[in-house]
Amino acid sequence: MLRNAGFALIALIGTRASFAQTGRVSAPITDISYEITADSSAVGRRQLGVAMSFVVAGDSPVILALPAWSPGHYTLLWFARRVSQFSAQSNGAPLRWRKLDFQTWEIEPRAAGPVRVSFNYLADAVDRAVAWTSPNFAFFNGTNLFLYPVGSGFNWPARVTVRTEQSWRVATGMDPAAGVNNFTAANYHDLTDMPFYVGRFAIDSTKIVGKWIRLAFYPAASLTPARRDRTFGWLQKFVPAHAAVFGEAPFRNYTVFQRSDTVVNGGGLEHQSSQVDEVTTSQLDAPYLSGLYSHEFFHAWNVKRLRPADMVPYRYDDAQPTTWLWVSEGVTDYYGALGLVRGGINDSTGFFNFIANEIASVAGAPPTAVSDASLGSWINPTDGSSGLYYPKGGLTGFLLDIMIRDGSNNHASLDQVMRHLYDAAYKHGRGFSPIEWWAEVSRAASGKIGPRERQVAESFTEFARHYVDGRDPLPVDSVLRLAGLRSESDTVREPRLGIQTSTDSTGVAITQLTPTGAAAAAGARLGDRIVTIGDFSISNDDSFEAWRARYAGTTLPTLPMTVRRGRETITLQLPVRLNTRVQTRVSPIPNAPEKAVRIRAGILRGTTS
Ligand SMILES: [Zn+2]
Repeated sequence: MLRNAGFALIALIGTRASFAQTGRVSAPITDISYEITADSSAVGRRQLGVAMSFVVAGDSPVILALPAWSPGHYTLLWFARRVSQFSAQSNGAPLRWRKLDFQTWEIEPRAAGPVRVSFNYLADAVDRAVAWTSPNFAFFNGTNLFLYPVGSGFNWPARVTVRTEQSWRVATGMDPAAGVNNFTAANYHDLTDMPFYVGRFAIDSTKIVGKWIRLAFYPAASLTPARRDRTFGWLQKFVPAHAAVFGEAPFRNYTVFQRSDTVVNGGGLEHQSSQVDEVTTSQLDAPYLSGLYSHEFFHAWNVKRLRPADMVPYRYDDAQPTTWLWVSEGVTDYYGALGLVRGGINDSTGFFNFIANEIASVAGAPPTAVSDASLGSWINPTDGSSGLYYPKGGLTGFLLDIMIRDGSNNHASLDQVMRHLYDAAYKHGRGFSPIEWWAEVSRAASGKIGPRERQVAESFTEFARHYVDGRDPLPVDSVLRLAGLRSESDTVREPRLGIQTSTDSTGVAITQLTPTGAAAAAGARLGDRIVTIGDFSISNDDSFEAWRARYAGTTLPTLPMTVRRGRETITLQLPVRLNTRVQTRVSPIPNAPEKAVRIRAGILRGTTS
């Protein structure tokens, strides 16, 4: 997953007593199929119609549950809370049912034969893990809708039929079956990892690394020829770089699902053969999208296939914490940035800026073990460590890459670690263990810590104890030097407004106002459209960064701020309030030793020597 900075996830935390593991196991069911109704009548009511059909061999109770979360979105969302009008029947006659807990239903068949369970699903959540509808469109994730029999494992096949308008499209990564809008999945993990777009949206495809890569954009008008060409251009560049790390592209096809709107829960969510991105309309042409696509795409290997043993297999009824999200998310962030520079989308300066931002994010957070930050994902902690496994995990991956290259005289890299674990663990149907990870890192570094790295740690086990499971500050300066790089920090004093904004066709509106902030002190109100501040025009959410840079260190006591409020245009006097921020820069060391230059070039190109 990738989420926009500053967005707070709302987590509902449960207790262990209330999960689907009630100790009860469902009677076996066979011939499982689902029917989703997403026609204009259903989506017009912000609903999806859901039916599950199966066959029972007798009258033993069938116990069905809905997932509590979607893999990749490490937050409990309890999809059962959106269910209404639940019913069960056999050959048209109603069956008795009751709830065992808030996400588990017990159905009592009367005899062997077919059973059909149905319910309505409220599809109005602005969240890429949850179903959403508009009058001509529906998005859903299998975790939202597909009930599973409790205690029967997940290795059973299923069919899905989508009932929709004749002129509407259906896009999913599931295997198509005979008939119209029929699909199959070999097991429940695949079934719930293949999101659907239904309705009026735009789709286009091209071949990259020998596979069909599709863009499915909603609304349809958001897929302009220019955006299609630019997005395919990016994918043409970074997908081969990602595939080169693992030596294969393990999906039959791949879809970038993208929804844009004025208000979205911005970011992306990865699946085994797709990503679901949500983008604000004002950011449809933002260069940052290349990084979002690259990050989510790398997940097709790292986490969707190569995954910590704690998360293999996925469980769906409860949180599944791991101390290794720093590899699944942070190292993915690192490779997301590497894909951009290796593919030629960004130059080395762009990559060094990415590393500098990671250093700054880690420096700005309280000392936190990256393994603890990984565990914290599920509770969205308030101590400043929320999401720290992204920047600190990415930075840790970068340092390990340099140390491996230094120890092996640039004959090996973190790429080899990822590929060996992919071959050894994922391809043998299991997750990687902590011992395996550190053994591979150590092996790639030629079984030794280089003499200069001994200043950092005597072994990678010791490195893990201090810097991954411990809270020691990462040895950034000493390790960066091994790649001929240095980081410098200076302090900038820049003005802050104390607002959050959203851009649409009517302008840049204030959506949140900190009561003690400068904008509130100036008399700004929620809904005001900001036009100018000082001599600077505000045209979108990204304008503020340039505005802060323009007035960094200013000695002016106030700035005029023009806003539109209803039909009026008002000029407010904004008190200038400067905040101190540490700005970090990473740059090559001139005349660095030959080995360091080779390591630096190897990282940027994805090569060893
Ligand atoms: Zn991610």
